[in-house]
Amino acid sequence: MTYPERDFDDRMSTVEFRVGDRPHITVDQDVCRSCTTQACVHACPANLFVPTAEGGILFNYEQCFECGTCYQVCNQEGAITWTYPDGGHGVVFRKG
Ligand code: SF4
Ligand code: SF4
Repeated sequence: MTYPERDFDDRMSTVEFRVGDRPHITVDQDVCRSCTTQACVHACPANLFVPTAEGGILFNYEQCFECGTCYQVCNQEGAITWTYPDGGHGVVFRKG
């Protein structure tokens, strides 16, 4: 069985984010400022970690895929607090 080729934008059009009021991931700026790798910036598939000119990190949880990659790659204890979104919120993958 073969599957039809679909480009990234096409796939993304089937993803819905039901944004909750409570951020399910928080980032401790004080810890990030001493981070030498900033591995989260390159590892997050949604590009939600943005380095600032002051050496910190801007983070936006609203388009998070809940993959957990940032939590896995972060080498600074306590920098990322990771939980799942509250019930009924978060990413929804629909068949397109
Ligand atoms: S979240 Fe972790 S990997 Fe990313 S900048 Fe902060 S300490 Fe570094
Ligand atoms: S869980 Fe995945 S998509 Fe969400 S912020 Fe972390 S790396 Fe990015």
